Amino acid sequence: MALSSILDRFNEPETLKMAKLCRQLRSEGVDVIDLSLGEPDFDTPAHIKEAAIKAINDNYSHYTPVAGFLDLKEAVCNKLKRDNNLDYKPENIVVSTGAKQSIANLVLAIVDKGDEVIIPTPFWVTYSEVVKIAEGTVKLVETTIENGFKITPEQLEAAITEKTRLFMFSSPCNPSGAVYSKDELAALAEVFKKHPQVYIMSDEIYEYINFIGKNESIAQFDELKERVVIVNGLSKGFAMTGWRLGFIAASAEVAKACEKLQGQFTSGTNSIAQRAAIVALNSSLDASLEMVKEFTRRKKRVMEFMAGMKGVKCLEPDGAFYIFPDVSYFFGKTDGETTIQNSPDLCMYLINKANVSTVMGDAFGSPNGLRISFANSMENIEKGYSRIAEALAKLN
Ligand code: PLP
Repeated sequence: MALSSILDRFNEPETLKMAKLCRQLRSEGVDVIDLSLGEPDFDTPAHIKEAAIKAINDNYSHYTPVAGFLDLKEAVCNKLKRDNNLDYKPENIVVSTGAKQSIANLVLAIVDKGDEVIIPTPFWVTYSEVVKIAEGTVKLVETTIENGFKITPEQLEAAITEKTRLFMFSSPCNPSGAVYSKDELAALAEVFKKHPQVYIMSDEIYEYINFIGKNESIAQFDELKERVVIVNGLSKGFAMTGWRLGFIAASAEVAKACEKLQGQFTSGTNSIAQRAAIVALNSSLDASLEMVKEFTRRKKRVMEFMAGMKGVKCLEPDGAFYIFPDVSYFFGKTDGETTIQNSPDLCMYLINKANVSTVMGDAFGSPNGLRISFANSMENIEKGYSRIAEALAKLN
C-alpha cells in the first residue's frame, strides 16, 4: 500500500535518530557517551513535580481549553512581563505539546505552498522540515563562525523577496549557542520594518540558558510586535522535556489560527503538565539559575578541551548547551582504516571508534559543523571529550 507524499517531503530529525542509535548500542552493552543530547540532564525541580501530583489528586483529568487553561495563559503573560518587559494578553497565548508543536502550528498557520521562509544556518533541525510539510520554500542564509553565527542586516535584506512570508531563528541558538544582542536585533528590525509581509518567529526556548546576561527579544520593537511570534516552553529552562509544554505569544489573529489547527490535532496539552507549568512560571527561577551555573562550569571545561584539539575551530557559545565547531579540517583525512569525507562520516567515526555520539552539521544546514552537547555530567564530559580528542588525533 502506498503512503502519502507528505512523508517524502521531509526527514526524520537527525537528533532523534542519534538518540535512538545510542539507546540501541547501550542495550547491546556498548559504553556510549551521549553527547548528542538536546536536553538538560537535571531532574525537574521538586516544587513543579509537587504541583503535578497535586493536580492529579485534584482531579485535573479532563480536556482543557484547546489553547490552554486561562490561568496558565495569564502565567505566561506575567512571565513575559517579568522577564522580557513585554505586554501580552491571554488571547495572544497558545499553549501546545512542546515548542515543537507550537512551531508546527505556526508554520501551518502562516505558510502557503510556494511561500518563502528564510532560515539562517545553522538552525534547529525541525524548522526546515516543517516548512517542507507546509510546501513552503526554504531559503537558507549561511552564517559563519567569523560573524558569530549571526545573520547580518545586509544578508537579511538580500534574502527577502515579495514571496517571503516568514523568518525563523532561535536566540540563544541551537546549535551554535549564538545570542543576539539588543543592538543586533534592532538592526534586523530596521530591515523587517521595510517588509510588512514578513512574520518573524523568535524561538526563545533557551532564554534562561544564557551565559552573557538577559535574553533580548525581537518582539520589543513596537513596530514589529504584531508580526513577531515568540516561541518558548518549559523543556530546557525547567528541565521538563518529557512533560511536553510549549507556548507562543503572537497577535490575536495568529494565536486564533494556531488554536484552530491545534483543535484538530491534539485538543490541547496534557492537563497535569499545564497545572505544573503555572507553578513553574509563577515561581522564582532559582533552580534554573543553578542549572545555568553548572552549564557554565561545563562550558569552560569543554572550551579547554576544544582549545587543545588541532584543526578544530570553535566559537564559545553565549547560550544553550552545545558547541558547534567547524570540523572541515578533518575532511579527506583517515585513521588508516576509515576515511572521513564529511560531517556525517565524522559523526559515525566518533560513534564507532570512540563510542561518543554527536550530531552531524548537515542536520542543521551547516555541513562543516558538528554539534556536541555539554548537557551531560562532568564525569561524562571528561570521558566523552577525551575520547573525541583521542579519536581526532588519529586522523591524518
Ligand atoms: N526550539 C529549539 C531551538 C530546540 O532546540 C527545541 C528542542 O530541542 C525546541 C524548540 C523544542 O522544544 P520542545 O518541543 O521540547 O518544547
